[in-house]
Amino acid sequence: MQTNDTAALERAVTDGSTDLQKRDVRALTEYMTVLPLGGDVYSVTSQSGSEYRVDALEARCTCPDKQHNLEDGELCKHERRVRFATGEWAIPGWANTEAVDSQLGEHVSGTPQVAATDGGTVEVLQPDDDSDKARQRPDDCDCGDWNDGAELPCWPCYRDGFEAPNPEVKADE
Ligand SMILES: [Zn+2]
Ligand SMILES: [Zn+2]
Repeated sequence: MQTNDTAALERAVTDGSTDLQKRDVRALTEYMTVLPLGGDVYSVTSQSGSEYRVDALEARCTCPDKQHNLEDGELCKHERRVRFATGEWAIPGWANTEAVDSQLGEHVSGTPQVAATDGGTVEVLQPDDDSDKARQRPDDCDCGDWNDGAELPCWPCYRDGFEAPNPEVKADE
């Protein structure tokens, strides 16, 4: 399925696309695991099981593509993957976010960003299993003047995983 997604997305950008754009597609759709090793250094394990080291600050990667095919300053798919995963680069508007590897952004401290299709603002890519970030406060929320500005929410909010008082609490009538 990943392979089909990759092929479909590559076809979608083939017209006028560069080899570097194809690397973007692979960086987004292939199954890769990115693990921070400290500083700007990451371990990237590719779909084929090979592990490479990416230094995002120095723009280095230990893969053969980087060593043999790319000019100075051109980034391989592993380096691109790190930049997408950490949100340093926004996922291009032409990318079908459903084809993006669902692990993108796991394990790293940043959050993937998606460029809006109109080329304007950037929105955060919400992983499927994390769609409750915008969820409602519990019906029995008891936040109010008593904890306005405090560090802790009411018990029902805390129970449901919120870490701060309900910001939309209505003043007591
Ligand atoms: Zn590489
Ligand atoms: Zn509450």
